[in-house]
Amino acid sequence: MLYTPRATAKRMAALPGAAFVSQPRHVGNAELGLIGATSTLDVTQPCPSFLIEHDRGLVLFDAGFDPRGLDDMAAYYPEISKALPMAGNRDLGIDRQLDGLGYRPSQISYVIPSHLHFDHAGGLYLFPDSTFLMGSGEMAFALQAHDKPQAGFFRVEDLLPTRHFDWIETAHDFDLFGDGSVVLLFSPGHTPGSLALFVRLPNQNIILSGDVCHFPLEVDMGIIATSSFSPSYATFALRRLRMISKAWDARIWIQHEEDHWNEWPHAPEYID
Ligand SMILES: [Zn+2]
Repeated sequence: MLYTPRATAKRMAALPGAAFVSQPRHVGNAELGLIGATSTLDVTQPCPSFLIEHDRGLVLFDAGFDPRGLDDMAAYYPEISKALPMAGNRDLGIDRQLDGLGYRPSQISYVIPSHLHFDHAGGLYLFPDSTFLMGSGEMAFALQAHDKPQAGFFRVEDLLPTRHFDWIETAHDFDLFGDGSVVLLFSPGHTPGSLALFVRLPNQNIILSGDVCHFPLEVDMGIIATSSFSPSYATFALRRLRMISKAWDARIWIQHEEDHWNEWPHAPEYID
């Protein structure tokens, strides 16, 4: 191994985004034949993005919803908002969130979407100067998803403006800076090219889990409770993150989990 295991990124900012609101909390998995149950709790699911500062460049993990739709999300997402009510405002766009930290999109070296669902990929078009890293097969699937399950979660109009950008796909884990501080974890299952991101900071290690898991109970039990491109791959991906969390001493940040959002500081504060 060439990398220095103790190398760290400098710091990370958790950027707020719009949210899914009034969601049920799923605690079972019909696809795997387990007994399913849904509590009556109203759950808010945050949709954050993350900026990581490293000596050799700025990294953005996820880009939230399309900023142009944030002031009237029911109108901008007329179909899916019926099943998944959303709440946001223009200031939660990834461009304004970065601006709040003093950064312009052109300063971001690497953009890494965990996957291409519209609540993660809506702001990608804002980064024409960045290098993009994506899980293998994700873009091809997303562009042809109109007749597949989860079709409503991929918006071709979010992705087409990015097709001439500098995209690289990986079918393996990838140590971005070669120093072990920021490592892409290839985690197909929720979608064909889902990624998680291991981040080593000066005082803690965090795994940004994308949509590999949605609820703490999934991590606790090692089962997937939400719809997946492949339930068996999704289960493997979840259990692997759980194993890496233990072996690498890293906490899993479930991005859509409000309790996790509330546990860490948010931009303009940094996590280190
Ligand atoms: Zn998703």
